[in-house]
Amino acid sequence: MSADDVRKLHSKFGIYDECGHKHTDEEYEREDSGVVDVEGVGLTCEEGLVQWVCHECDTVDGEPDEYTEYGEWPCRTLKELEKP
Ligand SMILES: [Zn+2]
Ligand SMILES: [Zn+2]
Repeated sequence: MSADDVRKLHSKFGIYDECGHKHTDEEYEREDSGVVDVEGVGLTCEEGLVQWVCHECDTVDGEPDEYTEYGEWPCRTLKELEKP
């Protein structure tokens, strides 16, 4: 696997909580709105962002699990990759 493949696989994944706003579907559909639809949370935005983790290392099938909160971004694999 090339370094680029690894970078693609280990993508940034945001853990979100409710942001407290009332976002609409129209906002969600606007690409620059920053509004995301999070399972179990609903529509939220960057203000509800708890932390960034690695999609590959810290989630299970694209969903956060109980260990996700211990994740970090960039993840260990990527840090290893950036080492000279
Ligand atoms: Zn918001
Ligand atoms: Zn990773």
